[in-house]
Amino acid sequence: MRAVRVRQPGGPEVIEFVETHDPAPSSGELLVSVALAGVNYVDTYFRSGVYPKAPPFGLGTEGIGTVIEVGPDVTGFAAGDRVAWCDAQNSYAELVAVPARRAVRVPDGIPDELAVGALLQGMTAHFLVDSTYPVAPGESILVHAAAGGVGLLLTQMAARRGARVIGTVSTEEKAELARGAGAAEVIRYDRSQDLAAEVHALTDGLGVPVVYDGVGRTTFNASLASLKKRGTMVLFGAASGPVPPLDPQWLNAGGSLYLTRPSLYHYIDTRAELDHHASAVFGAVLDGTLNIRVGHEYPLAEARRAHEDLQGRRTAGKLLLRV
Ligand code: NDP
Repeated sequence: MRAVRVRQPGGPEVIEFVETHDPAPSSGELLVSVALAGVNYVDTYFRSGVYPKAPPFGLGTEGIGTVIEVGPDVTGFAAGDRVAWCDAQNSYAELVAVPARRAVRVPDGIPDELAVGALLQGMTAHFLVDSTYPVAPGESILVHAAAGGVGLLLTQMAARRGARVIGTVSTEEKAELARGAGAAEVIRYDRSQDLAAEVHALTDGLGVPVVYDGVGRTTFNASLASLKKRGTMVLFGAASGPVPPLDPQWLNAGGSLYLTRPSLYHYIDTRAELDHHASAVFGAVLDGTLNIRVGHEYPLAEARRAHEDLQGRRTAGKLLLRV
């Protein structure tokens, strides 16, 4: 099969498209012929070494495809089934071994593109607004990178729960997309002199009860300063780089703040949790309350370009690799 490989961590240029051996399904696994792989920001952390991994390694964790072989000790799946997943290593490939306990059935009414557009980023948005900090009607909340893959979905879900979303973006085109997703206010944080002051001005000087921050290094301090007393800082990513170590006393000085650094995988650890979040997201796609924006589709061989565009802030919504 052909697959993406990284020999040494680095920039997008380390991504190679190579001929390699086919994976064989081990106990509990499905061998899947991949139709589409999802591109997620976490893929860039592995590629660059922000999340260390022993080289050489493959990339990608998300995709959709057709089961072609069922490994030992698997029940409930058969060759020919259409399945999606968000945590199978080496998903940027023609074939991938997917743990059956992590495979998700996709309703017939949802095309492959929308299923991959919804799964990882949609479940992330869902656990953030539903479980990490359950957003309540009437609350003003701050969502960074509101036109990103997670951002557009999080904005829609929070707005649908009745929150007033203040979104941050870096271009006018992204501002329009964030507004279209339901953001009531949009701040161009690339131009802002004092982001926290702008947030306070939009909230009668109070600040917001929660910030959803997947940008990290460049926004973290302003995010803390945007919170009201006893507010919750949800740091869920590091698109601009990791946040340096911090003094817990900052949380006291900021007004008895809460800080959490959640991961999707701790919210979908059991089959029941995975099914809960996946069915919430697929249900919303089916009933038309969640709009999936596929920003761009690349051939698998051009995964490098997808990473360049994603890290170059040139994308909005979901990026897909067509296998
Ligand atoms: P996005 O599509 O949101 O892309 C990242 C966006 O971040 C960019 O489009 C850009 O938007 C913004 N950004 C701000 N500063 C920078 C910078 N210096 N370099 C690059 N981008 C920057 O990606 P995803 O939706 O895949 O992921 C969003 C975040 O969510 C990531 O941090 C990711 O790691 C995290 N995540 C966390 C999960 C978890 O379980 N904790 C699960 C899934 C995602 P703009 O141009 O508007 O500034």
